[in-house]
Amino acid sequence: MTCLRVDGKGTLNQKLSPLIELQKLDLRIMEINEIRRKIPERLHTAEAPFRGATQILNDTTTAVEVAVKERRSHEKDLEAHEAQTDKMKSRLSELKTNKEYQAHLFEIEMSNKKRGDFEEKILVCMEKIDQLQRTAKETQEKVKALETVFAQEKKLLDEQDRTLASELAQLETQQREASARVEKGLLERYNQIKAARKDQALAAVREGICAGCRLQIPPQLIADVKRSEDLHVCPYCRRMLYWEGEPVVEAPSVPGGKSADLEIGESV
Ligand SMILES: [Zn+2]
Repeated sequence: MTCLRVDGKGTLNQKLSPLIELQKLDLRIMEINEIRRKIPERLHTAEAPFRGATQILNDTTTAVEVAVKERRSHEKDLEAHEAQTDKMKSRLSELKTNKEYQAHLFEIEMSNKKRGDFEEKILVCMEKIDQLQRTAKETQEKVKALETVFAQEKKLLDEQDRTLASELAQLETQQREASARVEKGLLERYNQIKAARKDQALAAVREGICAGCRLQIPPQLIADVKRSEDLHVCPYCRRMLYWEGEPVVEAPSVPGGKSADLEIGESV
C-alpha cells in the first residue's frame, strides 16, 4: 500500500509543510547528536600523540633507573674484587719459594684482567645511561609541546560541544513547537517511520528518485505525488513522499526538482 488518505481540512501540501519544517529541525538535531557523540572519540584521537610520547618518556625513565642499578651492582663487584686483590697482594711478602711467588704473580695478573672486565661493564652502563638520559630530555620536550597542542585541540572541541549543546536546546524548543503544528495522525506516522529508519521519515521526489533511498520511483506514483491529493509512501523505503513545488497535474517542464534556494543561488 503506497497511498494513505489524509483526513481533515486543508490540502496535503498544507498539512505536509509543518511536517517538512519539523523534519528540517529533526535532521539538524540528529546531525548535532551525531557530531557530539563523536567528540569523546575525537578527543581520544587528539590525545594519542601526547599519550604516546608520555609512554616513551616513562619507559625511558624506567630504563635509566635499571641501568643505574646495573652500574651500581658492577661498581660493588669491582669494590669487592679490589678488596680481594689488596688482600692477595699483602700476602706477597709472606711467600717463601720462587715457585710460590710465580704462582702468586700469575694470580695477580688474572685478577687485574678481571678488574678490566668490571671496569668495561661499568663504562658500557655509563654510556647507556648517558644516551637514555639524552633521549629522556628530548622526549620530555616533545611531551611538553604535544601537551600544549592537545590542550588547544581540547579547548576547540569543548567549545564546539558547548556551541552545539546550546543550538540543540534551541532546536528542541522549536521541535516541540513545530510538532504541535502537525496534524496528530500525520505526526504519529512520521514519528513511527523516523524511529524505524533512524533518519528522515519524509522524502522529496527529485529527478524521478526518492530522496530518501535514491531509488527510482514509478512514473505513475510520481504523477500521484505531484497531484498531492493523498499521502504516498516510497515502495522501497516506506518514507512519506512529497513534491517540493506546487501541486501539478501535468509533468512540469522544469527538468529535475532542484530546490528554489539553489535556483536563486545560481541566478545571483
Ligand atoms: Zn525511498
